[in-house]
Amino acid sequence: MSRWTAPREAILELLSRTSKHMSAKDIYSALARIDMCIGLTTIYRTLDLLHRMAIINKVVLRDGEAKYQMKSEGPRGHHHHLICSNCGRIIDYSEFEREELNFIRKTEVLLSKKYRFAIHDHNIDFFGICEQCQELKRKEEENP
Ligand SMILES: [Zn+2]
Ligand SMILES: [Zn+2]
Ligand SMILES: [Zn+2]
Repeated sequence: MSRWTAPREAILELLSRTSKHMSAKDIYSALARIDMCIGLTTIYRTLDLLHRMAIINKVVLRDGEAKYQMKSEGPRGHHHHLICSNCGRIIDYSEFEREELNFIRKTEVLLSKKYRFAIHDHNIDFFGICEQCQELKRKEEENP
């Protein structure tokens, strides 16, 4: 990758090579590792733009940090998130996709009629405590 590559291309290339959710800071350090020094402000601005263009997904953690992931088609495409409020771990899930889409489509039709709102996407994020964090807490309680 040339260091003259536009920030947008560099960020898209990085995100398209991973299935991870990355924060602006994660992206900053990953690009720095390959000698691409793009300022954090530019990264934030580019991510915001790509998100508004519906090219990438945004997940906001409880502490307010945003993580981004490439939108993709196929089995890894439509999915939602379980987000650990303790460690920030994000689990992608796509179970119940068919049931969910049936319900969401119905909801979308009703909402867009009622509020005259053209809906083009939705997010479902569940917040809670992941298995590892529950396990850690249990151990702490056993041996304080
Ligand atoms: Zn956790
Ligand atoms: Zn995801
Ligand atoms: Zn969905």
